[in-house]
Amino acid sequence: MTLEGLQSELRKLHKQRLESPARAEARRLRRRALTPVERATVLKSTGSKCHLCGGPIATDQSWQADHVLAHSGGGAHTINNYLPAHTLCNNYRWAYLPDEFQLILKLGVWVRTQVERGTSIGIAVGQGFTAHERRRESRRRLKPSMTRQPSGAVSD
Ligand SMILES: [Zn+2]
Repeated sequence: MTLEGLQSELRKLHKQRLESPARAEARRLRRRALTPVERATVLKSTGSKCHLCGGPIATDQSWQADHVLAHSGGGAHTINNYLPAHTLCNNYRWAYLPDEFQLILKLGVWVRTQVERGTSIGIAVGQGFTAHERRRESRRRLKPSMTRQPSGAVSD
């Protein structure tokens, strides 16, 4: 794949995502909050692990019930259709279609190797990324209400 091919693929996937009927449907369905008992059942279904990164979800950690079968198959709002995910993991993942997310993972894995090895591209990306994260953190500190999800938060 060439750089132009990668850019073209990213733009195509972005456009598909914005036009996706599944996305509109997910937005429509996402508002029903689960009860505390339902949330406890969802969390137990993976042994209190995030279904996206596989890491443990600590009791003081923000997490969301991810509605995994929301799309085409008419995934109902039953407990079986939810899996627990860290709020951070879910917020990064949920907006992307699977093809686009796989490409993001591949890019991310390659970039992390470049950063670790200290290649010129890795240093440039690492500097840009850490500056971006610092700006994000300072915006977050200015708006503490934006970081907390309501306890019954549900996402598709
Ligand atoms: Zn996670």
